[in-house]
Amino acid sequence: MKYKLLFLAICFNVTIAFSQNKADTVSVDALEKETTIAVSDDVKIPHHTGMVLWLNEEWWQALLQGHKEVPTESKNTILTTMGRYDVLAVIDLINDSGYAFKYTDRKTILNYVKMMDKYGGTIKPYSEEEYEISLTQILNILKPMLQSYMGNMASHIEFIVYPAWESATNRYFDPYKSGSFHLKYNSIDHFIRLPLGSLLKPKWCKKCKEMRNGSWTYCPYDGSLLEEK
Ligand SMILES: [Zn+2]
Repeated sequence: MKYKLLFLAICFNVTIAFSQNKADTVSVDALEKETTIAVSDDVKIPHHTGMVLWLNEEWWQALLQGHKEVPTESKNTILTTMGRYDVLAVIDLINDSGYAFKYTDRKTILNYVKMMDKYGGTIKPYSEEEYEISLTQILNILKPMLQSYMGNMASHIEFIVYPAWESATNRYFDPYKSGSFHLKYNSIDHFIRLPLGSLLKPKWCKKCKEMRNGSWTYCPYDGSLLEEK
């Protein structure tokens, strides 16, 4: 039994080692493509459109990597704070009359959106009263920043903040490990497959002679085993 556990532990570590083939630089755009969930025509909410962006620690890292003007000390404060949380940036609107949009309020959004753990239970978000000061400050800076490239729509973003860690050593959703990020948006289940390819070094297909998504094991065009470069 002891040896079996030891064997499992070794296998587990090997898996982690494989999935830790981190990319040197991460494109925020590529990451967001993987971590955005779009919802429309939900059967229970007609004329409804929603968008959820999962802001994890890696998103903050990628974002700050592109901002050389931000002092290292500030970057460290942001990363230390935001590393404790998974934040969902949600925009939700209803087009009732056919031409005018109505943005959904925070209370309704909190009813629509549920982040699910791997056991199928819901993860409880923090209430705004529970936010630590540095978290509030960072979210206050984030909104106008998003506004600069999303326009007025960004002022209707609601941030929902969840704990990123289920225990001292385990994240709910580790974007480098195999698994899935699970979100329930009203009646519909959405999954993001992990690891996220945008965080990993691309792999090489020797048959196609092209680079492929780092989260893939086989080339989707010819089934060749992809190689780490
Ligand atoms: Zn190939």
